[in-house]
Amino acid sequence: MDRIDPFAALIPRAKAAGAWVHVDGAFGLWARASSKASLTEGIEHADSWTTDGHKWLNTPYDGAMTICKDASALASAINSDAAYSAASRDAQKNLNLEFSRRARGVPIWAALRTLGRSGLAALIERHCAQASRIADGLRAVGYEVLNRVVLNQVLVRAATDAQTVAIREAAQASGEVWFGPTIWQGRAAFRISVSSWRTEDAHVDGLVALLEGLMERLR
Ligand SMILES: *Cc1c(COP(=O)(O)O)cnc(C)c1O
Repeated sequence: MDRIDPFAALIPRAKAAGAWVHVDGAFGLWARASSKASLTEGIEHADSWTTDGHKWLNTPYDGAMTICKDASALASAINSDAAYSAASRDAQKNLNLEFSRRARGVPIWAALRTLGRSGLAALIERHCAQASRIADGLRAVGYEVLNRVVLNQVLVRAATDAQTVAIREAAQASGEVWFGPTIWQGRAAFRISVSSWRTEDAHVDGLVALLEGLMERLR
């Protein structure tokens, strides 16, 4: 759990070895749309990418996207033609896993249309700044931040695993904040991911104050 993979170094090596390079950019690909774009340097040399609308764009669940540089490779991998149902290679049913589906693209289009390019960049940049604010705040009150905070993710632990677990459970039970558990290098941690369009700096400060209070209580 460090940061974003160094694409500019990795992708040419994978390509030289004959690999197809796919990037799971569920969260990270959105950095490309902001002043954090340099984190994704070289990502354009991949063959395919996936990303989610339902994470950083805050659209309803079930809004993932695949982007593939080689349309004919995608068409041959996904083609679902049958004797009773043949269509052109680039027909919608032949570029998807489903014949029919609801119009998932509409909320994604609406969110992008509403935010615009600058609104999207502002959303991402605000969340990254808030993640740094959380990391600084928690470090100052005695937590250990385990990752280099370059995006919207903060991996944190207290002095002992028992404290980390107790604090996370108490934070979740408070109803004020929510973040999930994880294990990093065999030890308990919690993973704070800032991604709601409604999160304001005051909420971030509330999170730090809450976690500071919970830490004090254990001392
Ligand atoms: C959330 C996430 C996934 C899962 O994506 P879904 O489209 O929600 O199934 C995969 N990879 C990463 C890095 C994620 O953050």
